[in-house]
Amino acid sequence: MIGLIPKIAGYNLFREFGAGRPLPANITVTVTDVCNFMCKTCNIGKLYLAHPEMAKNELTADEYGKIFSNLGNVFWVTVTGGEPFFRRDLVDVVSDIYRASRPMFMTLPTNGYVPKKIASDVERILDECEGMRVMVNLSLDGVEKEHDEIRGMDGSFKRLLESYSALRMLDDSRLSIGVNTVISKFNVGMMDEICAFVRGELKPDSFIAEVAENRSNLYNENDDMRPKDYNAALKNLMLQDRNPKKLPLILIKLARNAFYRTLASGKAHRCFAGFASACIMPKGDLWLSCVKNSAVGNLRDADYDFRRLWFSKKAMSMRKELKKPCGCMLANAHYTNLMCNPFQLLSVR
Ligand code: SF4
Repeated sequence: MIGLIPKIAGYNLFREFGAGRPLPANITVTVTDVCNFMCKTCNIGKLYLAHPEMAKNELTADEYGKIFSNLGNVFWVTVTGGEPFFRRDLVDVVSDIYRASRPMFMTLPTNGYVPKKIASDVERILDECEGMRVMVNLSLDGVEKEHDEIRGMDGSFKRLLESYSALRMLDDSRLSIGVNTVISKFNVGMMDEICAFVRGELKPDSFIAEVAENRSNLYNENDDMRPKDYNAALKNLMLQDRNPKKLPLILIKLARNAFYRTLASGKAHRCFAGFASACIMPKGDLWLSCVKNSAVGNLRDADYDFRRLWFSKKAMSMRKELKKPCGCMLANAHYTNLMCNPFQLLSVR
């Protein structure tokens, strides 16, 4: 973690003056666009149903190994989808990434639909990646039938609870289990009930809510799902937070409250997407930002040479656009911004 300090200075110099050649510390890897859900806030599942060929030609575990060996040490990797646990070879993908670049943290979001596969994959990942902390985030958007309705899948709430219990059985201090809620116009009125359920009954290690927004990588650019007013929900989330005891969870709590304060303020922020973070899409496209379609090229076509695309003329020119203040509501992006502007944490009460 100490090694991050010079890197943080490097990202600031890179962003402000184009100086230096730092590689990103935070990579989001969308390992598949396959999903069985029909969520009201995301069109990945609907698109996959209409175009099952989307699942073809995804990067293999071996290809991820080649890409990450070019990156050297990465601090934090998020492995997402679609539904990442639908990849049969998910453990191989994660293990190859780990062997190549030794991330300290990995986050795995999931819809929680396949409890046995989730628990068994996570157990194997913990075995194979000995030095890595793993956070599995279960996506919960309502309580009981409201969750099933918003996620567009009958029985999904019950399956999510089964996944939660199965993960709890994995008694490993490197594993944290989180719950992630998307506040949308469909559930903003139910946030009290959701918070009470998560904190009173589930009691996960971490609970975060993001606000629904239009994003290229969710194929929902034209959908109307944003809640009109979500400040009461954010206040509730901040006030009722538990006091975690493990250091990573204390840091996550601080970062989460800083994130909520930024959302509540409605102010645009100084974003480090494309400077300290990047996204790799299922077939190898490299995006500078996970929110805006910002593909700079395909890693397969570039012979898996991350640096060649990251420092290409196209990437340098796109960064000018990315430097403009941004109002995105993605927690992952805000955490990276906080890492690069740690003084913001001092404003958290
Ligand atoms: S939000 Fe997740 S579970 Fe829902 S459709 Fe999108 S990828 Fe699938």
